[in-house]
Amino acid sequence: MSRTVEFAGSVAVVTGGASGIGKGIAEAFLAEGANVIIADIDDAALAATAAELGVLGVRTDVTDADSVQALADRAVSEYGRVHVVCNNAGVGPLAPVDKLTLADWRWMLEVNLYGVVHGVHAFLPVLERNPDWGQIVNTSSMSVIAPPANLAAYVAAKAGVLGLTEVLAQELALRGSVVGATALIPGPVRTNIMNSLRTRPAADASGLHDVDIAGNGKNFRFLQPADVGRIVLEAIRGNKLYAPTHAEWLAQVSERHARIQA
Ligand code: NAD
Repeated sequence: MSRTVEFAGSVAVVTGGASGIGKGIAEAFLAEGANVIIADIDDAALAATAAELGVLGVRTDVTDADSVQALADRAVSEYGRVHVVCNNAGVGPLAPVDKLTLADWRWMLEVNLYGVVHGVHAFLPVLERNPDWGQIVNTSSMSVIAPPANLAAYVAAKAGVLGLTEVLAQELALRGSVVGATALIPGPVRTNIMNSLRTRPAADASGLHDVDIAGNGKNFRFLQPADVGRIVLEAIRGNKLYAPTHAEWLAQVSERHARIQA
């Protein structure tokens, strides 16, 4: 379905918006004149970022469906409608598979996968009330396509996010919805999560650094959260199913898409 996307005056909600990629996405929307709500479980970071950006911050635990529903209700009571939800909150501790406890698995799936499910449940009915457009952006990860060691639960959760977004996008298209779905697929981005992973920095001409994310001598370019913000807005404009941040993986994602469509 063709649609015209106008960010100025639109309403965007970003979970995990207090830091890193979420903050970068929030800033990109603000730069376009959108109204932004950031949601996060980290009270101190939420208050600091909401004050810095001059936006509404709503404490939210994405593992709790009621908390995410309260976020959607608050967004509607503040602004009347919502155009974009970025289900972006995530956690990423490292451990080999045999050291991951069931509690680790549950936590990782609760935040990284069910957090997205809760966001879709709470916001899709709101987005579909729009006459013109709406977008659900779910943060997956390049680790699904190039899985590094020590991230089994994380990769499993993020694979779930990629899969549910692909199915959601097809279902929305089939029923002619004005709402689209995008899987944001970040490679290495300089944030708190990445700072906890092994890195092998090497300055390059652009001042960015490369990272040996899998510890196998293969480097990938580190992006900044602002780069991801721009990529997300571009993907929404084009109602793109995949928003990979690193060109290295674009071909692999496209191949996957072709297989799904076949
Ligand atoms: P980050 O730690 O800076 O941001 C994650 C945010 O999520 C934090 O503000 C944290 O407080 C919040 N959060 C955690 N649990 C929450 C919960 N239960 N409810 C609400 N908020 C919660 O890290 P980031 O790199 O900006 O991560 C953002 C997303 O991008 C995550 O889903 C992450 O898995 C994904 N990702 C990041 C990279 C990268 O290189 N940084 C790569 C691929 C995917």
